[in-house]
Amino acid sequence: MKNYKMAIIGLGGMGNWHRELVNEGARFGNKEINNNRLKRLKVCGSFDIAENRQELARKHGITAYKSRKELLEDPDIDIVLIAVPNDLHKPFVIEALEAGKHVVCEKPAAMNSKELQKMINASVKAGKVFAVHQNRRWDEDYLTVKKIYEEQLLGEIHRIESRVHGSRGIPGDWRCKKEHGGGMVLDWGVHILDQALQMIPGRVLKVYATLSHITNKSVDDGFYAELTFENGTVFLAEVGTSNFINLPRWYVLGHNGTAMIEDFSGKGKVIRIMDYSKNDAVPVRTAAGLTKTMAPRTEETIKEDALPVVESDICDFYENFMEVIDGKEKLMVSSDSVMRNMKLMEAVLRSAKKGKPVKFE
Ligand code: NAD
Repeated sequence: MKNYKMAIIGLGGMGNWHRELVNEGARFGNKEINNNRLKRLKVCGSFDIAENRQELARKHGITAYKSRKELLEDPDIDIVLIAVPNDLHKPFVIEALEAGKHVVCEKPAAMNSKELQKMINASVKAGKVFAVHQNRRWDEDYLTVKKIYEEQLLGEIHRIESRVHGSRGIPGDWRCKKEHGGGMVLDWGVHILDQALQMIPGRVLKVYATLSHITNKSVDDGFYAELTFENGTVFLAEVGTSNFINLPRWYVLGHNGTAMIEDFSGKGKVIRIMDYSKNDAVPVRTAAGLTKTMAPRTEETIKEDALPVVESDICDFYENFMEVIDGKEKLMVSSDSVMRNMKLMEAVLRSAKKGKPVKFE
């Protein structure tokens, strides 16, 4: 099996994450990643316009190229990873493909679908593999909800709510700026809308979205998007950056139960109905009224279970990428799926601008 050498353009937060994953394996959050499967891949160098990131490269024993040109002209480099601000993805990806390199690009692939099409065309023309790092397809919380959905563990599922909440506004310099491709639809929508498309089969008929501008006027610092799939499932995707109390990461409603996942750690539970026939409502009396409808169920009619946790390994991404170069596999993150997601993000922005639902597919 062939060994591959990779170089990174943009050794910032995420560029360095890739270096660490590939060269060292690491503990990310609550998970230790064993990178044994990636032994035939090595990050050998990088280029960044910031001197402290060049210094970081040297500290980790990889070549700090003097320029992009020098990096791209190095015949030893097979794969180039692009991990710079979003507006630079298109020119840098095309340049690397034209230099004869296979290319991995950070998400969002591009600023819009027109740019993405040019990048896909360039990879076809160059005959080189181009993949987008949609890494949150490997999130275990998402894969757990996907299993619940596919195996109908709550009966037929009619609504899925997927939220990521923070309270720090938009971090970083370039993420606040429209010209650099800032905003939360491109930054986080790219993950949670993609997860919806990967999970639920069939067309998305309708998209209704609103954007928030609480801490930032030029780009969205949060959004709400409701997708109606042709099988009737409604998927709510919500990102907030001014939320000092978080709502659960996932809330899943089926005919026979509800599942909830609190956060990225995957903590949560499933509650299922055991006996619909039993009329167990003990009315709840409040100071100003009474309700039977909203009365909690009694213990004997429901059952609480642990989540059917699905484990994953992000090393799949690079292993698959190398297998595709070897001609043995198809891309797990296909260009078609990335394009569909890009067009969905455009529909979200279009709906928010119009202030009404828009058709999608
Ligand atoms: P960052 O600001 O930490 O890093 C960007 C780096 O690019 C910086 O070091 C900067 O100096 C460098 N840079 C800027 N212009 C350059 C140029 N012309 N040539 C070379 N280097 C240049 O940002 P980040 O958080 O690492 O984000 C980078 C990319 O990764 C973005 O596209 C972002 O959306 C993506 N990202 C993906 C994930 C994920 O989970 N997949 C997470 C975070 C960021």
